[in-house]
Amino acid sequence: MAYNIAIDGPAGAGKSTIARAVAEKMNLIYVDTGAMYRAIALYLLREKTDLQDQEKIVEQCRKADVTIRYEGGVQVVYLNGENVNACLRTEEVGSTASVISPIPEVRKKLVELQRRLASGNDCIMDGRDIGTCVLPEAQTKIYLTASSSVRAKRRFEELSAKGERCDLEKIRADIEERDRRDMNRETSPLRRAEDAVLVDTSDMTIQEAVERIIAICSESSESR
Ligand code: C5P
Repeated sequence: MAYNIAIDGPAGAGKSTIARAVAEKMNLIYVDTGAMYRAIALYLLREKTDLQDQEKIVEQCRKADVTIRYEGGVQVVYLNGENVNACLRTEEVGSTASVISPIPEVRKKLVELQRRLASGNDCIMDGRDIGTCVLPEAQTKIYLTASSSVRAKRRFEELSAKGERCDLEKIRADIEERDRRDMNRETSPLRRAEDAVLVDTSDMTIQEAVERIIAICSESSESR
């Protein structure tokens, strides 16, 4: 049986940076499930799909073939054969992903892909519903969070470092809106699995969070 670590938490808690570093140290693959929802969102944006029209989204979603490959240890997302990694990290794609992710047909398609990846590979997978829905049997579950003001500040610094102009208050409002949508939707809302260990990174460095997670993984393998 493959070894799986599930990490869930709100936007901007540091999941992907931390999960990537843990993957490298523990020799696991890192599965970024948000990137899959973002790939579908990118397809819908490119096709100028009406995001209010759920039937149309479901129909379009069938035409969006999302494939994942690992190239040099890095997850590469292919959308209908095109490597779209460079197009996924914008705020527009992220918030569109959170608008379309509640649709059950969208989730079903991506959850199947995620389970296939996890059953064939030792991996650390991050998202919103990994511990609660995608991998309920994962050997280790983490709920990673941080206050919304810390998360907004981190996102602001990340975007500013890329030379993008941005406004801290707007980023904070967007993050809170995204949390509200992700936590209150009917299908697979973001919540902490009962057996997930809570890690609040508000006052931690990335290095400290990585070490804490590696320690939790070794504690959970000792207790099995
Ligand atoms: O983690 P990331 O910011 O890339 O996720 C983008 C959006 O995709 C989230 O706001 C959420 O709505 C959705 N998502 C999800 N389930 C996951 C991963 C992401 O609903 N497992």
